Amino acid sequence: MSSNVSEIYGSLVFNEHVMAERLPSVTYKALMRTIERGEPLDIEVANVVAHSMKEWAIEKGATHYTHWFQPLTGITSEKHDGFIDPISDGRALMRFSGKELIQSEPDASSFPNGGLRATFEARGYTAWDPTSFAFIKDEVLCIPTAFCSYTGEALDEKTPLLRSRDVIEEQLNRVLALFGEPWRHIEVTVGCEQEYFLISEDSYKKRLDLMLTNRTLFGYAPCKGQELEEHYFGAIRPTVNEYMKDLDEELWKLGIPAKTKHNEVAPAQHELAPIYERANRAIDHNLLTMEKMRLLANRHGLVCLQHEKPFAGINGSGKHDNWSLAANGKNLLEPGENPIENLRFLVLLTCIIEAVDEYQELLRMSVASAGNDHRLGAQEAPPAIVSIFLGDELSSIVDALVNDHESEYASAHKVAMDLGVAVLPAFLKDNTDRNRTSPFAFTGNKFEFRMPGSSCNPSEANTILNTAVSKSLKGFADIMEAAEDEGQEFEEAVIAWIKQTLRDHERIIFDGNGYSDEWAVEAERRGLANHKTTADALPCLLDRKNIELFEEFGVLNESEIRSRYEVKLEKYNKLINIEARVMKRMVRTLYLPAIADFAAEVAENVWKVKSVLPEADLSAQERILAKLSEGVKNIDALLAELDETHHTVRALEDQQECANRNAYEVVPLMQRLRAEVDNLEIIVSAKHWPVPNYNEILFYA
Ligand code: ADP
Ligand code: MG
Repeated sequence: MSSNVSEIYGSLVFNEHVMAERLPSVTYKALMRTIERGEPLDIEVANVVAHSMKEWAIEKGATHYTHWFQPLTGITSEKHDGFIDPISDGRALMRFSGKELIQSEPDASSFPNGGLRATFEARGYTAWDPTSFAFIKDEVLCIPTAFCSYTGEALDEKTPLLRSRDVIEEQLNRVLALFGEPWRHIEVTVGCEQEYFLISEDSYKKRLDLMLTNRTLFGYAPCKGQELEEHYFGAIRPTVNEYMKDLDEELWKLGIPAKTKHNEVAPAQHELAPIYERANRAIDHNLLTMEKMRLLANRHGLVCLQHEKPFAGINGSGKHDNWSLAANGKNLLEPGENPIENLRFLVLLTCIIEAVDEYQELLRMSVASAGNDHRLGAQEAPPAIVSIFLGDELSSIVDALVNDHESEYASAHKVAMDLGVAVLPAFLKDNTDRNRTSPFAFTGNKFEFRMPGSSCNPSEANTILNTAVSKSLKGFADIMEAAEDEGQEFEEAVIAWIKQTLRDHERIIFDGNGYSDEWAVEAERRGLANHKTTADALPCLLDRKNIELFEEFGVLNESEIRSRYEVKLEKYNKLINIEARVMKRMVRTLYLPAIADFAAEVAENVWKVKSVLPEADLSAQERILAKLSEGVKNIDALLAELDETHHTVRALEDQQECANRNAYEVVPLMQRLRAEVDNLEIIVSAKHWPVPNYNEILFYA
């Protein structure tokens, strides 16, 4: 570490501290009102902020600025503009106006829009999100922004997320008001645990599949996998340790609260977890973290893989999305200390259960991608079926409520529950009960959504969660406000509502083993959705019920939703197309020639030995030759089949049909072709094999 952590932390961020120090006090106060209460920022204030931001950035060595945004490509985008403004006497001034801070017009025509711009003939613009701080990256002042069309349609991931925060703030405050609390500032809090692989740059550069698809399309299992369980939390190898230290330092300068780092289960796999923040900052920070992870690796001769399944047969990488709600900074999913807080906790819990059950398909959809299809349901990550894990204690409370037995409920901790006075044991927090197989788990004072893949932008999952929970909160508030008008006793009405709602949505709760085959059968019996592939998961976006959810709360309108569906379908189809092409190219130009060379060498040796020693028993060599020619025949046949299917599917007009056939014809064919090649990998001499194998890639110095 080159310097003191507290000195460098946030040194490249125009944060509240810098604002307080540098802005005139009226400007600072106006800006804080915008940040905390969403009040509009007027141009005079913006001009002062922009000037001060520019002066600060120039002192830190910045020469350019950019509106940094999250188009639907899944990554972040930036276009750098210089502060420079030449004047007539040959010199140049450095300028940056409030208008440039607030709004900009990137040439948006080549970002995916799913037909939105074609329909509306509108250009895109980016608008400052003042609730996420500006920062400096590579001498560029980056301003976090939302990206919309001129008719106001969201063209990015951030806009709906910001809308969903406003929605949940409003609905949650209605609920809090019923509990006699004044208006509170609500934040959705998010902490994203990021998994990744690090491999050596040398191996990477020798594999076209890694370079173009971020995963290995071929490769026999390594002789040693993760069975010794020595990698998880094991000592970190020096190369990786240097990388991690470098990464921490870069992230801290950007004010990213990187906290925990460790080796993960698979060889060459690691994890970084930050401290949670308000959702939009947490997600901006997750995207920045991912970028830094990728870019820093080459300083250390490494490559960072963020694909969900870079290696078959070895655990893939996810991104656990820890989610909670905070009112004026206080976590609302913390089971409370007094009866009324406990009742409120049970209401929120029930709302979340209802929301996840009602909109399970949307949540599943939000994590659908070609990469994640290899991971969900592969006994290493949750299945593709959404369910909720509550842990023993909370589950028995729910059980007691559902069955009207709450007065008989007594926990392991010898606390009786009487909901007349709503006593809830305060031990839930220490509930260390862990169930790694659950997609959506209560972990003491927050939920952990474990389905997102390592490469995804977590905005959408959080947007859906916020909106679906808002819908439940609204339902509760509507009923209770009406009950109040009718003079019903509040606590009684609340308990009746909790019981009924839990009964209606009990099916989503599952504490058992999510990896087991029995669960898939049981889930089907319960009527839970099980969308195995991206092709199956995406169409739910067009279901009336789901469109109505987004429209009711103004989070997305129908055309925005349709555009997202189109973009996702196209992205999936394009990725499978690239994988199929890379696969065919590698088979034709690398594997088949290498196998032919090796076969020729074996044949030549047989012939040479025979000429010297005619009576020698060469049946072993002949068996190898037979296996090689059998393998080549199979490879050739599968290659022809893949080629034909791939061309037919690629030419399909209808993108959904194309996706279906990619998922159920092209991908399985790719797997069969791979298996044939992999089978030969273990008999062809290492000298002839044209690419590094799993042993070499996963176990490097
Ligand atoms: P585990 O591996 O046991 O899930 P980690 O410590 O790796 O735990 O990650 C827990 C994550 O949850 C961290 O990113 C942490 O900041 C986050 N987290 C903790 N409390 C909250 C909360 N109230 N809201 C959102 N995220 C939270
Ligand atoms: Mg973890």
